[in-house]
Amino acid sequence: MNFITKILNTKFIRKDPHGSLHMPVYDSVAFEFDSSEDLALAFEGKKLAHTYSRITNPTIEYFEQQIKAATSSQGVVAVSSGMAAITNLLMTVTQAGDNIITTKHLFGNTYSLLEKTLKPFGLEVKYTDLTNTLEIEKLIDSKTKAVFLETITNPQLEVSDIEAISKVAKDNNILLIADTTITPPYLFNSKKYGVDVEVLSSTKYISGGATSVGGLIIDNGTYNWNKNDNLAADARKYGPFTLVTKLKREVYRNLGASLSPHNAYLQSLGLETLALRADRSCANTLKVAEYLEKHHKVQNINYPGLESSKYFKIAKKQFGHKAGALLTFDLESKDSCFKFMDNLKIIRRTTNLNDNKTLVLHPASTIFCEYTEELKKEMNVRETMIRLAVGIEGIEDLLKDISNALEAVK
Ligand SMILES: *Cc1c(COP(=O)(O)O)cnc(C)c1O
Repeated sequence: MNFITKILNTKFIRKDPHGSLHMPVYDSVAFEFDSSEDLALAFEGKKLAHTYSRITNPTIEYFEQQIKAATSSQGVVAVSSGMAAITNLLMTVTQAGDNIITTKHLFGNTYSLLEKTLKPFGLEVKYTDLTNTLEIEKLIDSKTKAVFLETITNPQLEVSDIEAISKVAKDNNILLIADTTITPPYLFNSKKYGVDVEVLSSTKYISGGATSVGGLIIDNGTYNWNKNDNLAADARKYGPFTLVTKLKREVYRNLGASLSPHNAYLQSLGLETLALRADRSCANTLKVAEYLEKHHKVQNINYPGLESSKYFKIAKKQFGHKAGALLTFDLESKDSCFKFMDNLKIIRRTTNLNDNKTLVLHPASTIFCEYTEELKKEMNVRETMIRLAVGIEGIEDLLKDISNALEAVK
């Protein structure tokens, strides 16, 4: 079945008593039982039933089932945000003294999570250039638990060769984790390219227009959990269900970063139109990129879907002709960037991405403002760079808005 068809035809686990066509919002904290025996069985996990909404809830479960059906994955856990997805996963697969391998070219809050929040708990983070696969192998030691990458890094828009990295991870029995926020399911088949576990912010593309904050952990079922010494005992009991069981019965339950049933409902609704919105915004992005590439005031344009991009070939292999809806470009100075942004009439000045509306941001002075000049340089976040998260407006209107605002720049 086609991606959209699968989303629209995911069966309810139990038939709705009223025959509701859309999964209703079960805004209830607790679920009652006919007998104390049944209640005990549910707590022991011997009877499949919802008990308390921090752990499971019918509306959240349905959203997870839709994602599971659409991705043909082993298991899905929906959480309260993209950051919660990364935190829950890393706290499940690593312990103090372990390390992971990643790059400094990362979403700013993810870098902060690693450096400021998880490091004090004893997680070591090794940074390298993930576009150079050979560098990764050199860093692996007996305490390495995972390689963590973003499919298209935000905001550098780097694309690494995921299949090649997956081979290195597999040869060394370590987990490959991909943050697929910029290329969610539909745009990227993470299982096909060897990603073991996918994490993403469903706040962005999936929510259907910035309606709600949420995150997803998708286990592709490709990793043998016996190979992770922290999880080997669980793996003997739960086999391929180790990650989801460990999360649901322990880490996710204990951290308490649960999605609200109402947000699960909004995201489930957003999922129904994800493919339509992604087709439109990716097509718009390519047209905007082609326009900016030819404009004499634009110094540098960065979009992996452009033939001139050094990532074009690998992006085309991994994402087909839809290289996401995020691009960056450079103007002469920070002043020019601010002038351009202040003269936009349709495009909105704000953070966030994959809204239905086109959003513009100056990363260096906003989401990266907490970092030193030196670190920004290492992260390749330039003062002259503008980030555009392209939406689904009429392309002529977007191009006119951009052209008028560029005119205001000297
Ligand atoms: C936004 C974003 C996140 C964090 O998601 P939230 O839902 O805001 O917590 C993580 N990774 C990437 C690449 C993002 O763009």
